[in-house]
Amino acid sequence: MGAFSQAFARINTRNADVDKEIADADLANAKKAQAAGYLCGECAELLGGRWPKGHRATFHPATCPLCQVCRPIASWDDWSWPKTPEIDRWANETREI
Ligand SMILES: [Zn+2]
Repeated sequence: MGAFSQAFARINTRNADVDKEIADADLANAKKAQAAGYLCGECAELLGGRWPKGHRATFHPATCPLCQVCRPIASWDDWSWPKTPEIDRWANETREI
């Protein structure tokens, strides 16, 4: 294997490591929302949640367990977690998320 191929292999390995770190962080974020149960939209978005287009859910005013601000909160699984399909109830949803 030439020097270029070796360097390229190292970069690819590093990229795979970074990809895994990002995937692990995305899953940890979604699980943080899952553990909170109910959370506000600001926290959900920061953690990677996306509101499914056209989805309707009941919000109620309460202190968000993540940011400690009293805001409308909804169940964590009202949001889609597109980066973590393993725990996303909307993963097989065909409409736009
Ligand atoms: Zn919050």
